Amino acid sequence: MAHAELMDFDKALELFEPVIGLEVHIELNTKTKMFSPAGNPANTDNHDAAPNTLVAPVDMGLPGSLPVVNGEAVRKSISLGLALGCSIAPSSRFARKNYFYPDLGKNYQISQYDEPIAFEGSVEVELADGTTYTVPIERAHMEEDAGKLTHVGGATGRIHGAEYSLVDYNRAGVPLVEIVTKPILGAEHRAPELAKAYLATIRDMAIALGISEARMERGNIRCDANVSLRPRGAEKLGTRTETKNVNSMRSVERAVRYEIQRQAAILAGGGRIVQETRHWHEDTGVTSPGRPKSDADDYRYFPEPDLLPVEPSAELIEQLRAALPEAPATRRRRLKNEWGFTDLEFQDVANGGLLAEVEATVAAGAAPQAARKWWTGEITRIANAQGREAAELVSPADVAALQQLIDAGTLTDKLARQVLEGVIAGEGTPQEVVDARGLAVVSDDGALIAAIDEALAAQPDVLEKIKGGKVQAAGAIIGAVMKAMKGQADAARVRELILERAAQ
Ligand code: ADP
Ligand code: MG
Repeated sequence: MAHAELMDFDKALELFEPVIGLEVHIELNTKTKMFSPAGNPANTDNHDAAPNTLVAPVDMGLPGSLPVVNGEAVRKSISLGLALGCSIAPSSRFARKNYFYPDLGKNYQISQYDEPIAFEGSVEVELADGTTYTVPIERAHMEEDAGKLTHVGGATGRIHGAEYSLVDYNRAGVPLVEIVTKPILGAEHRAPELAKAYLATIRDMAIALGISEARMERGNIRCDANVSLRPRGAEKLGTRTETKNVNSMRSVERAVRYEIQRQAAILAGGGRIVQETRHWHEDTGVTSPGRPKSDADDYRYFPEPDLLPVEPSAELIEQLRAALPEAPATRRRRLKNEWGFTDLEFQDVANGGLLAEVEATVAAGAAPQAARKWWTGEITRIANAQGREAAELVSPADVAALQQLIDAGTLTDKLARQVLEGVIAGEGTPQEVVDARGLAVVSDDGALIAAIDEALAAQPDVLEKIKGGKVQAAGAIIGAVMKAMKGQADAARVRELILERAAQ
């Protein structure tokens, strides 16, 4: 693939104003699917189901089968719409979006078109340094997910070059809400950052509402990023590209930045932008062309004849509104106070998209500072090294359990980092890794004293030095004991025991 020419980011911003628009799909964690009684694989209870075991006739579009709207999905969609500050339509309709794809048995997707359940809202999004933006929301609509294709035999996992493809219909019919922003103007050089922060805010919102498992690596939240540039001073919006499925917060920031640089180079060279979808390549950090896409993609939308309009009562909407969790901005202020973090400490957590993780770790019993250190420190370091998200490496419960092992004296910080590696490698809970790898601190004084005696015997002059007041001479013995114990001793305790020996 030929690499596109890129303009320096700052130069691009001098010449052009970037405009972004984000489409975020959220898989709801309902018990059953959008229109069928089959189990929902986006609910953790069903996550490990074997392929094609969560399928009802409706999900395949078998003749004679009829869809039934899932009330839980409607209520969760309304809650999300309200949290986005949207108006909820007293009556909204489903529509058929027609297209052929092997993972869509019916040859149409049931979605919403001109009458979405929620419309016209806004979300406050806070950037790294505390600057806030108001992102305008166009609409949030309900739809069903398609199945999943796996292309086998090729080098890239894409259909091109594959020998054959497998289809899993478990995901067919999973309830989705698609949130569409209006064009976001005025973010300027912070547009890539804002895209990332917006996605983090939506994820936090979904978690706080309890409407989705919100695991990005599982595809519970997926983002398409639209980007266009307009020359400084121009009124009319430029032509946009839509980069599909940028499915991590890190990637959305990189993809928007890349598109700004790529489009700027083309426009400055006198070329024009083709309105098209593009693919994001995580490994190389570039986008490549997908299919051309006009605004009026001809999906032959028409009202779904098998379903009645959705008409939530005013009482239901008010009941759901009253049950909303606090707004993200309020929540941040509260958490910052409760945790007692400094501005910098708090921003570190928030910018890493780790608020929910730290909150859950604290809820599982860890002290706030300890939770913060694990998530923004060691876990983030490993995540960056592996090009993954911190949240997907380890669960908050495991982090809290790890800290408890330190607090109980079972592990030193150093040993705990080894245990964390084991947990991330899938070796089990912290306690299981400690047991399996034999990593616990040697707390048996007898074993420590034996090692001390051995070290003292090897360096006979040290004891006299300590007795003579040169306490720092103990360092050599501590080092020898730690080595003999393969690092699995508490250095402070070893020091105490040496000084006790010298005092005898
Ligand atoms: P599509 O069917 O192409 O996915 P949608 O209406 O679902 O269209 O989403 C289009 C997204 O692109 C919206 O978020 C919208 O705000 C955004 N958008 C529209 N025009 C532009 C533009 N010129 N530049 C950047 N974003 C745009
Ligand atoms: Mg769209």
